[in-house]
Amino acid sequence: MKFEPSYLKLLKTGEIEERLNKLYKILEKCELCPRKCHVNRLKNEKGICKASLKLKVSSFFPHFGEEDVLVGTNGSGTIFLSNCNLRCVYCQNFEISHLGEGEERTEEEVAEMMLDLQGRGCHNINLVTPTHYAPQLVKAIKIAAENGLKLPIVWNCGGYENVEVIKLLDGIVDIYMPDIKYGDNEAAKKYSFPPVLDYWDRCREAIKEMHRQVGDLKIEKGLAFRGLLIRHLVLPNDIAKTENVLNFIAKEISPNSYVNVMSQYFPYGEVILKPKKYLELNRRITSEEYKKAIEIAVRLGLTRGIEEKQLKRII
Ligand code: SF4
Repeated sequence: MKFEPSYLKLLKTGEIEERLNKLYKILEKCELCPRKCHVNRLKNEKGICKASLKLKVSSFFPHFGEEDVLVGTNGSGTIFLSNCNLRCVYCQNFEISHLGEGEERTEEEVAEMMLDLQGRGCHNINLVTPTHYAPQLVKAIKIAAENGLKLPIVWNCGGYENVEVIKLLDGIVDIYMPDIKYGDNEAAKKYSFPPVLDYWDRCREAIKEMHRQVGDLKIEKGLAFRGLLIRHLVLPNDIAKTENVLNFIAKEISPNSYVNVMSQYFPYGEVILKPKKYLELNRRITSEEYKKAIEIAVRLGLTRGIEEKQLKRII
């Protein structure tokens, strides 16, 4: 099968320009995410995510630590964006998301990064924490596509998304890779700063729209080229409400969903700066906690993203 990324069609019809206009317009009174800060980012005002008009990039490189279906033989072409709209207190990339480490880059420079990653044989362009830079990134994709980019775009986001913005990405993103961090609204009230009141509501809405656009993950010769890939990080003391998350995926999205149930949580960021305040998060998960999460996934039939070695842990 000859893969053609969806954004090339929008480029040919000129529709990508219309989407760009709509996306940049949102920056004027920013509602790129459900925080809806209403700051004028076109004038470089900053909201909760602390992003201005200019793209800020922490690093870019062929990444070999992502899911096998993205990594292939030459790596996933990963671009880490600075800042974040969710600002979880335990963020495993605290320096990038909270402290905003990185350098300002133009859309043209980010387009060059995409082409460079393609030239190095990467199998996709993996945009990490892209939500608060959606217009600028779509512009970079357009410039790169005009100059020969033909890799699938992976939208690697935190799941706290404005569904109206996700609709504007229809036909531009090939693979949505959202986290579903929690299966209720309570956790993000405690563990996002400032508190997020409606994580679970907005997340479910956004995931449904993502699945409507791209469907279940499609894989050919071991490589994903289109669809939805969901990540869920198991947290200590069932803070993430894993069963709710997996139930939602199996029953309201698709039992054929590709779900990566992750075990690598470690205390970081504010959790180690204020250990007494976040006592319940101040440890790794136990093997029992992880086993339970995998058992739930298996019971619900969500086995597509579970590797052999994980399955062995429940036998
Ligand atoms: S993207 Fe940033 S500025 Fe815009 S609404 Fe979200 S947090 Fe606020």
